Amino acid sequence: MEAEERQRLKDLHYMRCPKCGAALVAIAYRGIELDKCSSCQGVWLDCGELEQLGVAEGGLLGGLLKIFR
Ligand SMILES: [Zn+2]
Repeated sequence: MEAEERQRLKDLHYMRCPKCGAALVAIAYRGIELDKCSSCQGVWLDCGELEQLGVAEGGLLGGLLKIFR
């Protein structure tokens, strides 16, 4: 039952923008595949992609990383 519910939610939300629900399209940025919304232009990162962007500890994005750890 729980597996069915997880699959149902995945089918419903996979590659959909969490803000507006429009389809996400994969874009290449610095060799990393990011998901960009086709409607609101938001960009979403999968697990580990923020680190892959080569974020320097202590910089603005380094500070952001600490929030998520
Ligand atoms: Zn969107």
